[in-house]
Amino acid sequence: MGVEGVYARTALYVDLVERLEQYITRQRDPQAEVLRFPPVMSRTQLEKSGYLKSFPNLLGCVCALHGSEAAIRSAVERYDNGGDWTSSLTSSDLVLSPAACYPVYPIAAARGALPPGGLKFDIEADVFRHEPSLSLDRLQSFRMREFVRIGAPDEIVQFREQWMARAPRMAADLGLPHTMDVANDPFFGRVGKVMAVSQRQQALKFELLIPYYQGAAPTACMSFNYHREHFGQVWGIRDEQGEPAHTSCVAFGIDRLAVALFANHGLDLKKWPAATRSALAL
Ligand code: 5GP
Ligand code: ZN
Repeated sequence: MGVEGVYARTALYVDLVERLEQYITRQRDPQAEVLRFPPVMSRTQLEKSGYLKSFPNLLGCVCALHGSEAAIRSAVERYDNGGDWTSSLTSSDLVLSPAACYPVYPIAAARGALPPGGLKFDIEADVFRHEPSLSLDRLQSFRMREFVRIGAPDEIVQFREQWMARAPRMAADLGLPHTMDVANDPFFGRVGKVMAVSQRQQALKFELLIPYYQGAAPTACMSFNYHREHFGQVWGIRDEQGEPAHTSCVAFGIDRLAVALFANHGLDLKKWPAATRSALAL
């Protein structure tokens, strides 16, 4: 669409994505509460979540012309005269969501004490990360589906283990070659390197990786994240014992999975393996 890492979706692609989403829905915990988020979220909430400490370089903030009518008109006139209108922009109270799950924790916190057994969510959003690239697996705007669990530590550990066992079976269902590996987030800067090492040492993040073609370096298409008590502490979510709740999210990179399917099986859906066609109800 004229910018690196930003793509229009064709009918073929959208139809496949819908089937993939339905396949993921069929794996969902029946008790999970469904929430769909817009591509923007509260700037204050994201700041409070600690995002600026970890990935300030990836964040996109919504800006607008907040001035008087005269100030706005003069910005437009500057543009009309070949100048720069954007120097009049100031930040709004919105950011582009950099991951689907950030808005769910304050929503859970607003409900008060966790119910017995904690909370389960199925969420989705189109997210933004400022990392322009020509690579088909590195988009600036992409869709992220997540299953989120909020509860006591043992419930959270069990949730993540269950999904780490199930995900390779899903990739096999879809006929995709895959490996599971411990991973780290791309934390910003020099301090970020230390954060990444610590995240790996504690095995807080795993990824399911899929190569797009034989011999290609594999791409992370799902991630399994254990945030420990981070969001429980930030938002004051307490478990039944009165301790800060632990949280985990399993993220499905919908665009990466869709591209992985096309890259591995081709553009003619009729020629896809029978098992893949059956999983996707093709
Ligand atoms: P994470 O929060 O683990 O970085 O991202 C969650 C999932 O979103 C990843 O496992 C991956 O599938 C997907 N994802 C992350 N970055 C990108 C990207 O740049 N482009 C696309 N298409 N998907 C991404
Ligand atoms: Zn998440």
